[in-house]
Amino acid sequence: MRPCPDHDILGCPMTRINKVSGKGRVPCSIMLIGEAPGKMEDAKGKPFIGKSGSELEHLYLAKCAEIDRRNVYITNLVKCRTNDRDRDPTEDEMTACGSLLLDELSEVNPQYVGLVGRLATQFFLKGAKMEKVHGFGYEGFGRLMMPLYHPAYGLHNTPMMRHIMEDFRRFGRMVRGDEGVMWRSNR
Ligand code: URA
Repeated sequence: MRPCPDHDILGCPMTRINKVSGKGRVPCSIMLIGEAPGKMEDAKGKPFIGKSGSELEHLYLAKCAEIDRRNVYITNLVKCRTNDRDRDPTEDEMTACGSLLLDELSEVNPQYVGLVGRLATQFFLKGAKMEKVHGFGYEGFGRLMMPLYHPAYGLHNTPMMRHIMEDFRRFGRMVRGDEGVMWRSNR
């Protein structure tokens, strides 16, 4: 295994085809942070274009959150596909790539951040359990953040879809500044 040229850590998954950078306008008031690219994303070099990306755009963002994907900057915690089996990134990979993500966060400067899935959530809310934090608003890094269940979860578990849909409805409400968003402190 070769070290990743982006951050020089040994063991980074250089089996990738493309590094998948974030996509969207910069600056942008809404940002979504996923976990890591899958096969399609790796092949094309763009985030969230596979099956879960299509559901993210057409169902969860458009129908539930009532947000147009073109108004969202979409990125991932880890920028490279981990390997053929899409294993979870290691702590080292998340820490190394996470420093790039923090730079990206400053550059894009969103007011609202959707943390899509457990890994992105735990990067910002250390030790958080998805069952406890999803769909609640948090203040962090000078932004309003909301952990959201990952659309991929609903691909393998249909009953889960209604929870993902509800999370995205709440995210849309947070972005519109609606009352009724429930807030929690991460301290
Ligand atoms: N899942 C993610 O978390 N990110 C992608 O880019 C694609 C699938």
